[in-house]
Amino acid sequence: MGRRTPRPEGPWDIVIVGGGNAALCAALTAAEAGRSVLILEAAPESYRGGNSRHTRNFRCMHRQPMSVLTETYGEEEYFDDLRVVTKGETDETLARLVIRETEECLPWMRRHGVHFQPSLSGTLSLSRTNAFFLGGGKALVNAYYNVARDLGVSVVYEARVDHVHIEGDRAIGVDVSVAGAAARRIAARAVVLASGGFQSDLDWLTRAWGPAAANFLIRGTPHNRGVVLKNMIDQGCPSVGDPTQCHCVAIDGRAPKFDGGICTRLDCVPFSIVVNRDGDRFYDEGEDTWPKRYAIWGRLVAAQPDQIGFSIIDSKSTDLFMPSVFPPIRADDIEELAEKLGLDPVRLGRTVAAFNAACQDGRFHPTERDGLTTIGLDPPKSNWARPIDTPPYFAYQLRPGVTFTYLGLKVDTTARVEGPHGRLANVWAAGEIMAGSILGRGYLAGFGMAIGTVFGRIAGREAAAHVA
Ligand SMILES: Cc1cc2nc3c(=O)[nH]c(=O)nc-3n(C[C@H](O)[C@H](O)[C@H](O)COP(=O)(O)OP(=O)(O)OC[C@H]3O[C@@H](n4cnc5c(N)ncnc54)[C@H](O)[C@@H]3O)c2cc1C
Repeated sequence: MGRRTPRPEGPWDIVIVGGGNAALCAALTAAEAGRSVLILEAAPESYRGGNSRHTRNFRCMHRQPMSVLTETYGEEEYFDDLRVVTKGETDETLARLVIRETEECLPWMRRHGVHFQPSLSGTLSLSRTNAFFLGGGKALVNAYYNVARDLGVSVVYEARVDHVHIEGDRAIGVDVSVAGAAARRIAARAVVLASGGFQSDLDWLTRAWGPAAANFLIRGTPHNRGVVLKNMIDQGCPSVGDPTQCHCVAIDGRAPKFDGGICTRLDCVPFSIVVNRDGDRFYDEGEDTWPKRYAIWGRLVAAQPDQIGFSIIDSKSTDLFMPSVFPPIRADDIEELAEKLGLDPVRLGRTVAAFNAACQDGRFHPTERDGLTTIGLDPPKSNWARPIDTPPYFAYQLRPGVTFTYLGLKVDTTARVEGPHGRLANVWAAGEIMAGSILGRGYLAGFGMAIGTVFGRIAGREAAAHVA
């Protein structure tokens, strides 16, 4: 490549904080422009790649069938989908920038070693809108690391950045602690921040949510603790978004505290009744199709006593959803099921009986709203309401599973970070750390990787141009 690799302490052309999708997209782009690039990744090598390694797909605009994507998915439809889920709480300029650039990203991803496959079957039907990664996010991350190595990008693992040195309107370097050793300074001509949200700092989550947060599970990496986000905010950089806003879904309560990934998600809710610790139902399980409702159930369970729920089905429904990695709790009658779940058998029996009595005859259709609703029940179940009466019975415990938080740094269309007194001259941000600029609330499947890929590439390009 003919490019000189700096000494470890720099100065590097570009230091990138984080080692997930956004960081890698920035690194590849900057290295291809001929810059010396250092990635500082907090995780050990075997766990590199942050939340990105858990992902499955990328939401992509396309004006004609492209790769594995069928039909078309235009800017207006994509933006409308985003507007609905965010209830308008989005920065339209940044959102449209992401949407438009996704079309160019997909071929770029392929050129950098990502292989795609058609959408997986299951409850989320996304073949037109989302391109799935063959081998999942782990394969994507590994492909990018391979290209990064070939381009001469240096990577240090177990490297936790604690401080970004801002002087005036510029960063002059970062403080990093490697494998727990004392922090040392690394000089940089430009810095890209791609170190994710703060969801794995449980104290911060508790300050935002109150004590309920102690019962939340974190679906992704334990390394996204918002250290750099907090450091920048403490230095006067404005933040965007609300610390309680995040992507939060109902996952299997037996999932590990961190890093359970996609296989702990539960998709049985629409075919079940969901009760709380007291054996009472608390929300319409059949309000709408699952792709439109799955992202609200984390918050619903978070609002229940002890932040726990139980999804109960009978043998008629076992094959209607993608199974979780954990087998369900099984029993031959409701009383036995209640005992196995630690619930009051009388209360649960009463709830199931009241639900069954409110069900009506009618056509059941699992993949569309079938209008098979309860009558005279509060809350109602508006679709897929069939009596729970065919043993054996099954239950899954539900807990809130946080995917990522939305509080972030403020950026402009060039990914440049807003400092205390206007834009910083040489600091860019990409991915979850700035997602709050676009996601005020709600979520659209495949949009996290869209934000990270688009803004990662922009950050890499702009940083490279800055140090030219
Ligand atoms: C289970 C799961 C499934 C998901 N599925 C999808 C999907 O299919 N499609 C989609 O679009 N989105 C999905 N998402 C969301 C998606 O993962 C994120 O939006 C995206 O990966 C964010 O990329 P990122 O590079 O900003 O963050 P990450 O990939 O999380 O990378 C952040 C990096 O920063 C490092 N880091 C953190 N702090 C420091 C520090 N102080 N110093 C140095 N390094 C640090 C971390 O180790 C990590 O490598 C999913 C998330 C989860 C948890």
